[in-house]
Amino acid sequence: MKLQLFNIANFKVDGGAMFGVVPKLLWSRVYSSDENNLITLALRSLVVETEGHVILIDTGWGDKQDEKFFRHVNLHGGEGLLGGLKNIGYNPEDITDVFLTHLHADHCGGGVKRAVNGVDFELTFPGATYHVSAPQWEWAVKNNLREADSFLEENILPIGKSGHLNLVKNEEELFPGFSVMICYGHTPGLMIPLIKYNDKIIVYTGDLIPTVAHIPLIWNMSYDIESLKTIDEKERLLGAALIGKYILVFQHDEHIECCTLEMTQKGIRAKDKFDFSDILQHFNF
Ligand SMILES: [Zn+2]
Repeated sequence: MKLQLFNIANFKVDGGAMFGVVPKLLWSRVYSSDENNLITLALRSLVVETEGHVILIDTGWGDKQDEKFFRHVNLHGGEGLLGGLKNIGYNPEDITDVFLTHLHADHCGGGVKRAVNGVDFELTFPGATYHVSAPQWEWAVKNNLREADSFLEENILPIGKSGHLNLVKNEEELFPGFSVMICYGHTPGLMIPLIKYNDKIIVYTGDLIPTVAHIPLIWNMSYDIESLKTIDEKERLLGAALIGKYILVFQHDEHIECCTLEMTQKGIRAKDKFDFSDILQHFNF
């Protein structure tokens, strides 16, 4: 198995929305914000190569919306989706599987692009199967007022039409060494990959624990549809991760790519924080 991580881009989002009921006085001590109260998030994708599969986890915003949309999002930095893949040795045709944790625009937008005629849409990874959980697909195509800004039909419907969609129904081992936890607090059917790598479990924490600052059980985003479920799901994952000595990989943390965990008087917290390229050094902790 081969694992590689890259950052598609950074973007900005309201700090208050990212930390829900936590007062700014507290969250701003651990995650800095600018004069408009915006914080910077990364958009890391993980590529997993295992037994004939090249799996891309999440695809970033993509580029289909207009300039105003992207000005609002404030995209900057990063390697780009196709640029980042190229830098680690992959062309779009090499990707056999696109694993979408969920269908919010910053996670799935890059999976669909505009066709040359500028009107139609097509898959960015033409040879890939696109994996989405069944509850997330059902929820997203139905859409709802609360998440309407996040579920964009041009990101979602072309996947269904392409015939490349695989709906994941259970918490199963989807690929050899690659299992899935299905969550409901952030949005119904958020999939969190647990990857067995050299006898160690690596968790891509996605929007369940977007940054290191979100490890405390009640430090959650106000984007979450059902925050009590998020708390339960984090408790379940962090408990298993502490016992099993998992390594957490963060999709959104601006500065920290990975961490190990320890129990403290306040609960489970990050222990060592390190870059993904140093992951092997943390296998015997
Ligand atoms: Zn999300």
